[in-house]
Amino acid sequence: MQPFQFVTAIDEASARDAARGGEARFLAGGTTLVDLMKLHVEQPRVIVDVNRLPLTAVEELPDGGIRVGAMVRNSDMAHHPLIRSRYPVLSQAILAGASAQIRNMATTGGNLLQRTRCAYFRDTAEACNRRTPGSGCPAIDGCNRMHAVLGGSERCIATHPSDLCVALAALDALVRIEGARGGRVVPLTDFHLLPGDRPERETVLGAGELITAVDVPPLAYGQRSAYVKVRDRASYAFALASAAVALDVRDGAIADARVALGGIATKPWRSREAERALIGRPVNAVSFRAAADAALAGAVPRRHNTFKIELAKRTLVRALTRAGALG
Ligand code: SF4
Repeated sequence: MQPFQFVTAIDEASARDAARGGEARFLAGGTTLVDLMKLHVEQPRVIVDVNRLPLTAVEELPDGGIRVGAMVRNSDMAHHPLIRSRYPVLSQAILAGASAQIRNMATTGGNLLQRTRCAYFRDTAEACNRRTPGSGCPAIDGCNRMHAVLGGSERCIATHPSDLCVALAALDALVRIEGARGGRVVPLTDFHLLPGDRPERETVLGAGELITAVDVPPLAYGQRSAYVKVRDRASYAFALASAAVALDVRDGAIADARVALGGIATKPWRSREAERALIGRPVNAVSFRAAADAALAGAVPRRHNTFKIELAKRTLVRALTRAGALG
């Protein structure tokens, strides 16, 4: 591990100042960053510890939405009464991820900044466009069983690993960001970038910008929501496919729907195609399968991950069935 400067931030301004150079990383729970530093994938010159920042509240907003501070631990968010009662999909998504010990450390802001679990990315003996721009992508013709079928490019097909972000994408969450030029708010669905020609750019965050909170807008039918995750083992594994859904059902028909997918795309994947396919349709298996077909219509499989297309469809159908059965 290369030497680095360690700065303890006492407030947002000092955190941003310390990170202004661009070669700094904010340290919250450290559940991704420290791992990657040990692997020499991340080699920051400056570590800015943000654990003392007062960003630990889960609070109700005047419009009925909920603001989750960036330093709220994943466990605390998953078990918070407001989250559990209004957005079960959020709680379920968090609890489907990692282990209890990791959830006790990992933070809301850090979860948004998780980096891919692509094995080539985490092995510095391998080329990787995301880690070393222009070096190549061995996953394209290599072992790509875990890789994306949606949102990829010829430069990168790595999946985004977060469960929480899939649920946040379905709920139209907003990311609150503070920087030297002031604050801004970015929809979660725009926060992560598609790899395109520059997979090394993963989010819209600029140098020194700090996530301060995530706002979840009110959703009248948020209680009728569900998260389903399919993985190689029952716990502590990343998704092969996952689905976050919410359904507004009136007189037996779907009046509105939210659908997002994980484990199969290069970013948390909101599927407007699936939502359009659901609206106005009856709550039944035929409607759900039509939505799943629409969601995966643009999928591009690679040599080892064709199975993900059907798996993702079945995962989405199961999530919709679960949400549809709720009262
Ligand atoms: Fe790197 Fe992306 Fe290729 Fe994985 S898929 S090796 S992260 S460029």
